[in-house]
Amino acid sequence: MRAVIMHAPGDVRVEQIPDASIVEPTDAVIRPAAVCVCGSDLWPYRGIEPLHGPTAMGHEYVGVVEQVGDAVREIEVGDFVVGSFVASDNTCDICRAGYQSRCVHQVMMGSVGTQSELVRVPHADGTLVRTPGMPEPDLIPSLLAASDVLGTGWFAAVAAEAGPGKTVAVVGDGAVGLLGVLAARELGAERIIAMSRHADRQALARELGATDIVEERGAAGVERIKELTDGLGAHSTIEAVGTQEAMEQAIGATRPGGHVGFVGVSHDVQLDGLGLFFSSVHLHGGPAPVRRFLPDLIDRIWRREIDPGKVFDLTVPIERAAEAYAAMDERRAVKAMLTL
Ligand SMILES: [Zn+2]
Repeated sequence: MRAVIMHAPGDVRVEQIPDASIVEPTDAVIRPAAVCVCGSDLWPYRGIEPLHGPTAMGHEYVGVVEQVGDAVREIEVGDFVVGSFVASDNTCDICRAGYQSRCVHQVMMGSVGTQSELVRVPHADGTLVRTPGMPEPDLIPSLLAASDVLGTGWFAAVAAEAGPGKTVAVVGDGAVGLLGVLAARELGAERIIAMSRHADRQALARELGATDIVEERGAAGVERIKELTDGLGAHSTIEAVGTQEAMEQAIGATRPGGHVGFVGVSHDVQLDGLGLFFSSVHLHGGPAPVRRFLPDLIDRIWRREIDPGKVFDLTVPIERAAEAYAAMDERRAVKAMLTL
């Protein structure tokens, strides 16, 4: 099968590798309808995360089940399914508490690779959620977004306690931040302030529900959020970047008693203890338990209430994966879809 392999920072190739197959009896193999490149795939692409030899890339996937292992009971060949970027049994105590991304039997799909013609999905019964039927082709991008960026933005909004009467600030204008805006809107937030300095992303943020845009960053960004909120700060802040500046901006932009939902994968972030102490904010984040939200998100997409597929602004055949990575790295694309 063809698969996207990263050999070194900036070096992405499409190669033939052996077909994905059943390894554990709880596995399924799916044929993706489309795959995509995630912002987190850019960390190794930029040399910020180390690569240990040629690595199969990707962790987002939707598609049709081709094979199931002997122990799979719920998922059947022919089902159209959506899964999250963490495979989980969905039965352990941590899963049942709604934190499937930290399942005691978790398998990170990034360690398996999904940017390929076939994908092995561990813990198929726990991980995969079937759609009500075969989706219309125009729903594929939105269902693919649910696999990670929508589910992650949604968790961030829930963790930040976005809801009616709340002012929500969103740090980060990548796909997760933009879909955090959408999630905050769906959860009923009164005011949604997107922090972005790119005109095209500002426009998309407004389309997805942002009521205000703040272009300033860092301390100036925090000041601007305070000006917009009677000097208090936002009730709820979504942090969808993972850098020191973004995390400080998120905590600083949140009022005492408010909530920060942080989902940007943390890279060298160091928090000042005393600053955190006096911020009086709630911090809740981590790898999003997308599986918790998938049934609801699939429903909303199926009913065409939300259109998170709008974040895909570049679609190329998988052979041109290198172009997709470069476009996202240079921020010419918000999110790239690869067709098979
Ligand atoms: Zn579990």
